[in-house]
Amino acid sequence: MIKILKSIKALLEGLFTVVKHLFKKSVTLQYPEERPVLPERFRGGHTLNGCIGCGICRQVCPCNAITIKKVEKKVTSYTINLRQCMFCGNCQYYCPVGAIKMGNNFEPATDCNNDLLKELVTNNESEADK
Ligand code: SF4
Ligand code: SF4
Repeated sequence: MIKILKSIKALLEGLFTVVKHLFKKSVTLQYPEERPVLPERFRGGHTLNGCIGCGICRQVCPCNAITIKKVEKKVTSYTINLRQCMFCGNCQYYCPVGAIKMGNNFEPATDCNNDLLKELVTNNESEADK
């Protein structure tokens, strides 16, 4: 008898939980149709604009994810390896000229491994956000 009462109590508790949540606002989103509101300081995909090629970002990157190539003091290639990057934000924080920024792109997932090598092409006037 006690066993039956316990079962009924558990059943009622379960039903009560279901009914309670029926009238609450949903916490899930119909992604990708619905987009999340990102926090103000969200750190997503990088953009580069006006890089002077000082290399500080490369030095402070804990994951060794940044590769910079220069020809006669001009940056010819700037690559971030997203297979290694942990989106810590050090590169953005320490850049002396604010050239590298972390944006709102939170969808770097891809089925192609090479797509994770982000070439942020710069000639000190163009910008590529990939
Ligand atoms: S966010 Fe962090 S890990 Fe990623 S490239 Fe910048 S410094 Fe390196
Ligand atoms: S992104 Fe900033 S820190 Fe990195 S090489 Fe360019 S200017 Fe220097």
